[in-house]
Parts: sequence; structure tokens; C-alpha cells
Amino acid sequence: MKIIRFTTPDTLERYGIIEGDSVRELRDQPFREIDYSGKLYALDSVKLLAPCIPSKIVCLGVNYHGHAKEMKHAIPDAPLIFLKPSTAVIGPGADILYPPSSQRVDYEAELAVVIKKPVWRVSRAAALDCVLGYTCFNDITARDLQKQDGQWTRAKGFDTFAAIGPWISTELNASSLTVEACLNGERKQHGNTADLIYPIDYLIHFISHVMTLLPGDVIATGTPSGIGPMQIGDTIEVSISGIGTLTNHVVCTVP
Ligand code: MG
Repeated sequence: MKIIRFTTPDTLERYGIIEGDSVRELRDQPFREIDYSGKLYALDSVKLLAPCIPSKIVCLGVNYHGHAKEMKHAIPDAPLIFLKPSTAVIGPGADILYPPSSQRVDYEAELAVVIKKPVWRVSRAAALDCVLGYTCFNDITARDLQKQDGQWTRAKGFDTFAAIGPWISTELNASSLTVEACLNGERKQHGNTADLIYPIDYLIHFISHVMTLLPGDVIATGTPSGIGPMQIGDTIEVSISGIGTLTNHVVCTVP
């Protein structure tokens, strides 16, 4: 199942399910049960939004060996987590605003886990029961500010620095998915979730022993090697096997 959030010229934000070339509108949020409203839209007539509205985005730093090596970062003894604010979220096709305070803004292709229900201190064995599905994520990063600050909040927290989408794929085994980034059509990252240092069930277990995860919250599982800078005017695509492609464009903050 592919779960989307969307609008049309006549419709406020809604959730829906993609079926072929159509979208079946949901009456409510998709977290408890799938309840169709009866309305049907042509897929090419709707505008896709970020497929969930997270209260928080919990990101993993250094969760692939290749990325640890390229960043000259030691393998963390425990999952290294940080937060991105909900205000950073953008959906498929939306613009990434290049902040004037940075001289280097990077893409980071990542698999995102979308949480289905409140999760607090879950066992590793029960962790995957708390997952609604998976989507593509771009953990956009002002690399110069990350190095300058030590703390990552500013570098990772600009508005538009958390691209999510295009939809949430359910019934997916995420243990071996390819994760790719293409910049202006050229492949820059090519990893596989089989190489995650800390796997998804452990991440949910670990994070839920720190903070309660809520429906729609996102865990960004970390980026493989090959990160690099984007320029104003660039198109960046994050593709994950079994899900699809998230495309965004980098624009100047002041048009
Ligand atoms: Mg990242």
C-alpha cells in the first residue's frame, strides 16, 4: 500500500491510498485503520505533500561504516541520535531553500521509518509492529555550520532541510533496500540498508527508551557514503528500492 498526503485545488489536506492511476481518499489519518471516504481522484490531478506530519524527526548520525569513514568519524558505541524540527519538513517536488549563512549545503539520502502508534520502551522483538511504513528522506545539512558549531541543530534544522516522500510504503521488508542519491541525474550515493550499523528494530527500541515516539514521527536511519554539496538550481533525487523517488530542487532563499 502507498499512503500519501495530498491537496487538490478544491480539497484541503487529506490522506489517500494510491491505486494504479487513482487516489482513494481516506476519511481520517491512516494510523489506526484504513477508512475510505468514497472519493476518488486521478493521481496526476493531486499535489503530493510530505506523507506524514511528524511531531519530531529523530535522525541517526554515522550509521553506515562507509559514511563514518568519509567523515573520519569513529563508530559510535551507541546509536548517535539528533533531532530535526517539524518546521524543516517539505514534501516531494518542494523547494530546498539555500540559506545565506552557509557556503556548503549537502544531500544525505536515507531510509525513513514512519511510526504507527505511541511507542514507549518497546522491546526489540515488538519494535517493527510499531512501524506504519517506510519512505525516502533527504537529511539536508549545512556542512560548514555543522563543523563550526559542534552541535548539529542549526546545520540540520533550517526550514526545508527535511525532505520526506513521495509516499509511505507499507508491507515492506526494509532489511535490504538500496538507498541512492542522484544529483542532476548523476548517481552520487549507492548504499544498502543491510549495511546499517544499528538496524531498524534496534533503533526503535533504543529511541523509545529515550523519548516517546508518536504516530507520524519519523526516524531517519542515517546516510551511506557519497555525501556531497548541492548548488542553487540543482535537482536532487533520493531513491529507495521498493518505495520510489523523492525529488526536490535547490533554490535561492531570496528570489
Ligand atoms: Mg543524516
